[in-house]
Amino acid sequence: MAKILCVLYPDPVDGYPESFPRDGLPELERYPNGQALPTPEEVDFTPGALLGSVSGELGLREFLEAQGHTLVVTSDKEGPDSEFDRELPDADVVISQPFWPAYLTAERIARAPKLKLAVTAGIGSDHVDLDAAVAHGITVAEVTFSNSISVAEHVVMMILSQVRNYLPSHRIVRDGGWNIADAVSRAYDLEGMHVGTVAAGRIGLAVLRRLAPFDVRLHYTDRHRLPEEVERELNLTFHPSAADMVPHCDVVTINAPLHPETEGLFGDELLSTMKRGTFLINTARARITDRDAIVRALESGRLAGYAGDVWYPQPAPADHPWRTMPHQGMTPHTSGSTLSAQARYAAGTREILESWLAERPLRDEYLIVDGGKLAGAGAHAYSTSG
Ligand code: NDP
Repeated sequence: MAKILCVLYPDPVDGYPESFPRDGLPELERYPNGQALPTPEEVDFTPGALLGSVSGELGLREFLEAQGHTLVVTSDKEGPDSEFDRELPDADVVISQPFWPAYLTAERIARAPKLKLAVTAGIGSDHVDLDAAVAHGITVAEVTFSNSISVAEHVVMMILSQVRNYLPSHRIVRDGGWNIADAVSRAYDLEGMHVGTVAAGRIGLAVLRRLAPFDVRLHYTDRHRLPEEVERELNLTFHPSAADMVPHCDVVTINAPLHPETEGLFGDELLSTMKRGTFLINTARARITDRDAIVRALESGRLAGYAGDVWYPQPAPADHPWRTMPHQGMTPHTSGSTLSAQARYAAGTREILESWLAERPLRDEYLIVDGGKLAGAGAHAYSTSG
């Protein structure tokens, strides 16, 4: 029998909700690229319920306990006295979400000799030391595509809110004011601007598609070029690298995974090549940027705004400089954890566990590491340092 250790974010401060604002979720047929939605044999939760917090348990308890497995769910994940560290040594499976990541470092992996499977309930497995997972033969899987569109919608919202100076304007109203000049002295239209994405994978391409009707000029860079017909349809300009692309852009959105090639990419050097007053949106991973270089760029005016939902570490400490830097529209890491997304990644996690426990192969598109090497989606989008 397996022990499954699941790390989830804490429940709402007022307790687990008794009801939700809407009844149910829209039905989706497939993901935009044709990939099938998660196909678990069954689910024991109501789509639209809060599943990503501790009491939601990703809807897994009934299913796992009925088969005699042990499920431990905790949000206590930091430091040697945390429940996560105490429970890890005899865990067979670890599940966590990027929003509240259980950092599976090489040291932790070394202290978990039974660990065979690390599941990311969501997308982005950089909280797992992939080199160590490769070395220890641990399978790393994520629920590919489950929240890509959720993030793409968040990116579009953040681009518009930054360019149009929405958050400060809203604050004026909340504070009882009516000073239009204060609100509009940093407000622009997006129309006609040059918008570029670093990476045009599932999220990046969905952002490009959603922005096209705004009559902007679209740019992208990626390791692999998009099909010619997509470039033509969206009138895209391809650049071989981020360094080539960003000087042309008024808005840049980062949609690449964090791995050795992208870590620290947006530092002083690259930022200094951007137009004065560029807006930078990062919902990918914080460490693709240099934390303090972002603050300096906002203070100098090189960046007119920065918005995103990814921080390092997570949760961000109370004195993290991004909480107080000027012209920022940060949220906690929420973009990929809407109730809509949770229903998909909880179902995908269940699908992964059903397959793994029955010793059936996992869907190739869910795999990041398998059989001692990068595999499936991971072989396409990630790199290891080896
Ligand atoms: P995909 O794997 O579909 O796309 C990632 C793209 O990044 C691929 O096209 C890949 O290129 C490209 N890429 C990799 N390295 C580079 C590089 N050095 N330069 C340019 N492009 C590069 O992933 P998704 O679009 O689904 O997700 C992207 C990232 O977004 C995730 O890795 C995760 O970190 C983050 N994310 C954030 C969420 C949130 O809640 N904020 C939720 C979900 C994801 P190619 O494959 O062509 O080699």
